[in-house]
Amino acid sequence: MRTVNAIAATSATDPLVRTTIERRDLGPHDVLIEIRYAGICHSDIHTVRGEWGDVAYPLTVGHEIVGQVAEVGREVTGHAVGDRVGVGCMVNSCRECENCRAGQEQYCLNGNTGTYASVDRDGTVTQGGYSTHIVVDADFVLRVPENIPYEKAAPLLCAGITTYSPLAHWNAGPGKKVAVVGLGGLGHMAVKIAVAMGADVTVLSQTLGKKDDGLAFGARDYQATGDPATFEALRNSFDLIINTVSAPIDMAAYLGLLRLDGTLVSVGAPPQPLPVPVFALFGNRRSFAGSSIGGIAETQQMLDFCAERGIAPDVEVIGADAVNEAYERVLRSDVRYRFVIDVDSLR
Ligand SMILES: [Zn+2]
Ligand SMILES: [Zn+2]
Repeated sequence: MRTVNAIAATSATDPLVRTTIERRDLGPHDVLIEIRYAGICHSDIHTVRGEWGDVAYPLTVGHEIVGQVAEVGREVTGHAVGDRVGVGCMVNSCRECENCRAGQEQYCLNGNTGTYASVDRDGTVTQGGYSTHIVVDADFVLRVPENIPYEKAAPLLCAGITTYSPLAHWNAGPGKKVAVVGLGGLGHMAVKIAVAMGADVTVLSQTLGKKDDGLAFGARDYQATGDPATFEALRNSFDLIINTVSAPIDMAAYLGLLRLDGTLVSVGAPPQPLPVPVFALFGNRRSFAGSSIGGIAETQQMLDFCAERGIAPDVEVIGADAVNEAYERVLRSDVRYRFVIDVDSLR
């Protein structure tokens, strides 16, 4: 075991504090990563506050992790000391079920092991990336291409893959009209990736407050959902809508924006069920779908795609002591567009 510096939540209501946590000894298939940056995802906040179920405290969260390899187990061949690497939302899966064998570990039928707040194979609770080091099975470690700066690579491990996967699956590309609902951490990556894939992208946001940013990210159009005329004007328009909003939306109104065979995919997770009027699906043979992160191979593909196309998130780098304030700002949607913790501030 090694003891490393970290930031942890001690209860659902108290601020996060500096502490130390234990990392397991390196197994033959493990990689020890010296973490450089960790992104702050909205899921981190839901989890530490117990909003997605009970968790064991103290808990260190963070699943947008980048750094360099500090040590490898004796059977590791794909990663070497000094390599730039990343870890996303999961650190293991059963590897035997139908979905794992198909390279869709995120949908492991036996449940993938989350990067934090999950029970690991050794029975301990996994602890995330707001810490100086992490030990991860080599098969769940990604290569971070040289030309993506470390701090900008971090959010790709959750926000990037969560939006890339449905865009790729539903064939966003030339000739396709894609709408992105919400321009936050996920939404701004969805816009950049869909534009790079060649799609014609529209941002649907409550107000026009971030219109300049949306157009700068490559969107061709930007409309306010607070204005009912938007839903009239854009009726039957889109092949694909990526909904990144974690609050309930008027499903009939949004489904009405889809053209023939269009799909509305939710990657945002409102806590309450979304009522879907079936008649809104009949028209234009529409679909309503969900999508969760991406497999390991696909996550590598996303990182390589972003490096090749020169796409990266817009980030605000903060020190470890600013995390509590950053959480408050995330909850107010006051971040452009992802907070990333400089983990050197924890050393
Ligand atoms: Zn996340
Ligand atoms: Zn599995």
